[in-house]
Amino acid sequence: MVEINRSQIEEAIRLIIDAIGEDPKREGLLETPERVAKMYEEVFCGVNQDPKDFFDLVFSEDHEELVLVKDIPFFSMCEHHFVPFFGKAHIAYLPRNGKVTGLSRLARAVEAVAKRPQLQERMTSIIADAINEKLEPHGVMVIIEAEHMCMTMRGVKKPGSKTVTTAVRGNLINDSYARSEILALIKS
Ligand SMILES: [Zn+2]
Repeated sequence: MVEINRSQIEEAIRLIIDAIGEDPKREGLLETPERVAKMYEEVFCGVNQDPKDFFDLVFSEDHEELVLVKDIPFFSMCEHHFVPFFGKAHIAYLPRNGKVTGLSRLARAVEAVAKRPQLQERMTSIIADAINEKLEPHGVMVIIEAEHMCMTMRGVKKPGSKTVTTAVRGNLINDSYARSEILALIKS
């Protein structure tokens, strides 16, 4: 696993402070490079993590009905602007052959995928594919709704606007009835 190079981040932040015409030696900014480096270490700790590694298989009794974990909060960083996007992930799947995973595992996988420079679209499919490959369920549906700081504090400046992305795998692709049931449960 690649370690995050803190001193390199510190140097880069010092350069940015200087480049915007500020004084890196000013009291309030003096320890900023160190603080940002520590923060990046935390915010980007998912860079080399594979979400599939979080899915311990728990072979349960034959539960082949819907499993839905909704409103999983997450914070990520837009890879185009390096500012946060954040919101909620909802994960639904239909287990097959009793292959289920711990519910908290789904939340941890979301976190691992979020904690890297990311795009919401990719994040949504990575989670769906990881579940699809590891648990081999009848179907998976992942929905992510998020607010992007690059759309609210700069550029088009549209605070409150939300981006919704979905990724659907397996039988749910052709089952609009099940998909609308999942959506209704998420809204309830
Ligand atoms: Zn962006």
